[in-house]
Amino acid sequence: MTVLEVKHLKKSFGSIRAVQDINFSVNSGEIFTIIGPNGAGKTTTLEMVEGLVTPDAGEITFGDLSWEKNGNEIKKKIGVQPQSGAMFELLTPEENLNLFASFYDKARSTHDILELVNLVDHRKNHVKKLSGGQRQRLAIGLAMISDPDVIFLDEPTTGLDPQARRNIWDIILQLKELGKTTILTTHYMEEAEKLSDRVCIVDQGKVVTLDTPSSLIEKLTKEREVRLTFLDGDHASEEANTFAKTLQSVTKTEREGSSLKLWTTKPEDTLVDLFGFTKEKNYQVEQVSIREMSLEDVFIAYTGKEWRD
Ligand code: ATP
Repeated sequence: MTVLEVKHLKKSFGSIRAVQDINFSVNSGEIFTIIGPNGAGKTTTLEMVEGLVTPDAGEITFGDLSWEKNGNEIKKKIGVQPQSGAMFELLTPEENLNLFASFYDKARSTHDILELVNLVDHRKNHVKKLSGGQRQRLAIGLAMISDPDVIFLDEPTTGLDPQARRNIWDIILQLKELGKTTILTTHYMEEAEKLSDRVCIVDQGKVVTLDTPSSLIEKLTKEREVRLTFLDGDHASEEANTFAKTLQSVTKTEREGSSLKLWTTKPEDTLVDLFGFTKEKNYQVEQVSIREMSLEDVFIAYTGKEWRD
């Protein structure tokens, strides 16, 4: 079931065309991640979807609700992680949650939220004393207090250390278990790859590709890079290279000393053939590896830009 549909969204600031033509739909219960280079238009897109910025053109619908006609109803369905400046520093997490809860007719219990974001032990400490990770967890809790169906998390782990980042990942995965839909932006490729059901890559105000992380990687290349290192030295790799070049599935080879790198459309078949060859020649293979392609390779292929992390 589609919970959010975005069609032909456009927004300019003077002569800057921040969002040129963005289209996507988000399914109920999925973690949908938007990634893209600096200035690609991610924040502007999210702010339009969250109802904070008015688009120049295009449609945003949550089921049959639209911002023009049903703003108040949409506000009840969505939760937006507040910027840390929106929290009250001199109040405790518990007090912040109680305060945010008072803005809504129906809210989840503060205790539930403290448990969900793992802040029960810190519930009575002032926010100003919390670590970066604890503040971000509280921000997610505040987005959850109205028990929304759809949660927007804009770079929830930026600047956090790896452990604090993983703690946030656990919470995002718990939201999914609760049946919530999460729309996420991140600067961390590993995060996008690990958490997302689907990834939308945006560049220059347009969606350049959108799919599951594994399909994006699969679509990118049908070739895999295989590396072999021989114990018997250069002559073994040289002969293996000559042999590999005769295989139909091998598209390219590179040899350096006792190592051989090759690209193949059928890695398993190629390895079986190569091991047949080395066995026959009595050569010993010291190391074998097949390189995994990553979402980072997809990002670079589509945007032509290096990932900045
Ligand atoms: P980042 O990853 O750096 O946060 P982004 O993908 O979120 O980038 P946006 O913040 O949406 O990109 O910005 C897209 C473009 O629109 C940029 O060129 C930005 O400078 C410009 N822009 C965004 N908001 C405004 C504004 N309020 N006034 C003028 N220009 C803006």
